[in-house]
Amino acid sequence: MSDETSILELEDVRYRWPGRTSFGLSVPAFGLKSGETVLLLGESGSGKSTLLSLICGTVTANSGRVAVSGTDIASLSAGQRDRFRAEQIGLIFQQFNLLPYASVLDNILLPLRFAPERRSRVNAPQDEAIQLCQDLGLPRDVINARAGTLSVGQQQRVAAARALIGQPPLIIADEPTSALDAATQTTFLELLFAQSQSHGTTLLMVSHDARLADQFDRVVQMSDIAKAERVTP
Ligand code: ADP
Ligand code: MG
Repeated sequence: MSDETSILELEDVRYRWPGRTSFGLSVPAFGLKSGETVLLLGESGSGKSTLLSLICGTVTANSGRVAVSGTDIASLSAGQRDRFRAEQIGLIFQQFNLLPYASVLDNILLPLRFAPERRSRVNAPQDEAIQLCQDLGLPRDVINARAGTLSVGQQQRVAAARALIGQPPLIIADEPTSALDAATQTTFLELLFAQSQSHGTTLLMVSHDARLADQFDRVVQMSDIAKAERVTP
């Protein structure tokens, strides 16, 4: 089933949050081809963020297989998994997850610390971080500001720069545009697509905004790939 052009494969994956009997996620089959841009749509509570956590290996499936770039992430130790994630995946969370007291620059460079291969693709880290900020329309002087002092929309763009630096093969974004105004949202998406075009990066983005659909190579409905098992006591 696996071929060299696939970057993500899920097979018969089942997951239940510890202590939560009322929600279980079951994904019979889902995959991403290298270089494609995919929009994942689904209603709130349908398990989109849970699915992304399984793909990133921040939680591990109760059964089944999750493979990124051909590596079954269940075969890695917790430490190996953290390094593997830093190398392979640029993450943009719904809540940004920036270090509020660290500078914008340090936040952007953070993933490179744990990912030597990703680091090796960056010649001048500081210049590249500044360039990414500029591409995302952030004012030049924010680079030394504490991340926590930025507006919500600016923080989201810093999170995007952190995900893009060093060109990880897979970018995963969980509702990244919800805090952005229309113009900023367009710039933000254009940069993600440009990275995908120029570096063959795969993009998986979750949203509940179906209007974004025609900008992506493929649109996937959560209800088509997953069964959310809601058990009533
Ligand atoms: P979506 O992103 O589609 O809105 P989620 O994956 O966030 O859906 O949530 C699906 C279900 O999993 C919900 O019932 C939610 O309460 C539960 N859930 C999400 N995150 C956690 C967590 N960290 N611990 C326990 N339950 C969680
Ligand atoms: Mg979510």
